[in-house]
Amino acid sequence: MLNKKIEEALNEQINAEFWSTYLYLSMSAWCSATGKPGMAHWYEVQFQEEQDHARIFFNYVVQRGGKVTLKPIAEVPTEWKSELDVFESTLAHEEKVTNLINNLYALSTQENDFATQSMLKWFIDEQVEEEENATNIIDNLKMLNGNGYGLFMIDKDLAARVYTQPAPLAAKG
Ligand code: MG
Repeated sequence: MLNKKIEEALNEQINAEFWSTYLYLSMSAWCSATGKPGMAHWYEVQFQEEQDHARIFFNYVVQRGGKVTLKPIAEVPTEWKSELDVFESTLAHEEKVTNLINNLYALSTQENDFATQSMLKWFIDEQVEEEENATNIIDNLKMLNGNGYGLFMIDKDLAARVYTQPAPLAAKG
């Protein structure tokens, strides 16, 4: 059985993951509207991954005999100044999510909830990847410094991103 403090914190995290789905879908819409189909696709995959994150937390709360309480999803930004701005906003957002995951881990340590600590390890590793991915794209965008051909090539590159179901969901079948 989940303790109430942990249950509440996990419900907050489910809401944060759904907020992320909304943010990335909004970024995908902005990329489409500004003529960058590859980036729009990259954010659509990101959107799918965030849905998965929400579902992993959702399933975990259910599995531990807790109650999932879905809350309203706050408004997300809809405009960015440039490709660099949208990816820098992505990195800033992922750094915030890393903090949320770290705080959850700290809380589960404090509450002696070893199962929650174990579940969170996948997310701790996932956040390292999320930050690395955004950083690499930012580095590339800075390198080409607004060059149109370079942007075209990056867009083609990001169009090739393939969605894969995360291990904790794949294991569940
Ligand atoms: Mg996430």
